[in-house]
Amino acid sequence: TTVDCQPSGLARVADWCPTLSQVGGLGDVVTSLSRAVQDLGHNVDIILPKYDCMNLSNVKDFQFHRSYSWDRTEVKVWTGKVEGLSVYFLEPQNGLFWKGCIYGCKNDAERFGFFCHAALEFLLQSGLHPDILHCHDWSSAPVSWLFKDHYMHYGLSKVRVVFTIHNLEFGAQLIGKAMAYSDKATTVSHTYSKEVSKNPIIAPQLHKFHGILNGIDPDIWDPYNDKFIPIPYSSENVVEGKRAAKEALQQRLGLKKSDLPLVGIITRLTVQKGIHLIKHAIWRTLERNGQVVLLGSAPDPRIQSEFVNLANQLHSSHNDRARLILTYDEPLSHLIYAGADFILVPSIFEPCGLTQLTAMRFGSIPVVRKTGGLYDTVFDVDHDGGRAQEQGLEPNGFSFDGADPPGVDYALNRAISMWYDERDRFNFLCKRAMEQDWSWNRPALDYMELYHACHK
Ligand code: ADP
Repeated sequence: TTVDCQPSGLARVADWCPTLSQVGGLGDVVTSLSRAVQDLGHNVDIILPKYDCMNLSNVKDFQFHRSYSWDRTEVKVWTGKVEGLSVYFLEPQNGLFWKGCIYGCKNDAERFGFFCHAALEFLLQSGLHPDILHCHDWSSAPVSWLFKDHYMHYGLSKVRVVFTIHNLEFGAQLIGKAMAYSDKATTVSHTYSKEVSKNPIIAPQLHKFHGILNGIDPDIWDPYNDKFIPIPYSSENVVEGKRAAKEALQQRLGLKKSDLPLVGIITRLTVQKGIHLIKHAIWRTLERNGQVVLLGSAPDPRIQSEFVNLANQLHSSHNDRARLILTYDEPLSHLIYAGADFILVPSIFEPCGLTQLTAMRFGSIPVVRKTGGLYDTVFDVDHDGGRAQEQGLEPNGFSFDGADPPGVDYALNRAISMWYDERDRFNFLCKRAMEQDWSWNRPALDYMELYHACHK
């Protein structure tokens, strides 16, 4: 990402955008942070590879912009608008991004290294002089050292580089080098920044390392204006809106249409996300006579087939109360966020987590493990009143500490019991969660402060 602190020229180097191709939460963050910074009056441009597997139907005014030569190949540049943001798509004619995939090709390092170089070359050759280049995770890490070693001396001298770690699990070696070469480094919540502070990659860089929480885009996630749910609702008619959404969800998935506590899970199925706790929670919810809907997909085929087996088992033993949809389906995710009573996020570690924030935006109650950004955004109704108050908030969910079944049971049982025994209190909690502001309003200001500090 490149950012311009005056309204004149900002560009962002990222690897992808959610409406084009979605492989996790990073695309949501790049889009919604960019929109928030743009709304504050700054210019933002996003630079992405033009993957052959992108869905370009969501790009407005898509057109050829120019081409240039780099490393003995022609790079075609296309432009367009995504969610109101200007995006440049770089398409090297050597075919590096014509692989039918985004990550997971054998030569990822070579592909993204080329992209970073080509992006800087594009800035230079186009005369774009942003104030900030904001790079996200390992795939844009090389920008920081290519910039400091080369491009800074070629006329882009006013640019400062900010590097954000979205997940230290991916590309840690590159991340350490990128931090060393950046003017500032961030990660996506205060608690995660503390959790990783002793990591040998992070420890030497603590003087320039900050935790800034991610937000969600309240226009993209808005139950009052959402074509995938049956009736628009706000906190004023949350009970009615969620009842209609639950019925529509049950109808669509062929679940029994009765008023039972419904637990939703929307996740990549990886070890990080607490797979064993997810499985346990499914059985626990069924024991408590609840319904469960899981929407998830596993990059690892072994994990995917484990869940296919579990789905087959549950769809025969509990056909009216459990549904596992093992694919990526954003429209369905909207209906689950709206129709569920609870959204479970039992991650082993979680740099920020968007699922719990989106859940609250739809008036669903998060049930989470206390780690990283989940700790910073979910405040347990029984334990975290004081901690919430320090943030000017009130409790909004249920949480647990351990990484074992009794831990998840502790939070889930209290959540389901509140639904059965104290429905008014539960409904009030939904309304309260909906009214909390988890947008970029606050975090975007924190980023602006950081961008300005780079130039001091
Ligand atoms: P991560 O980036 O580690 O996957 P986050 O919580 O930050 O986790 O972001 C996950 C995002 O991806 C959320 O917006 C969630 O709704 C979405 N998501 C995850 N799995 C699916 C799926 N199978 N179908 C639709 N959306 C999904």
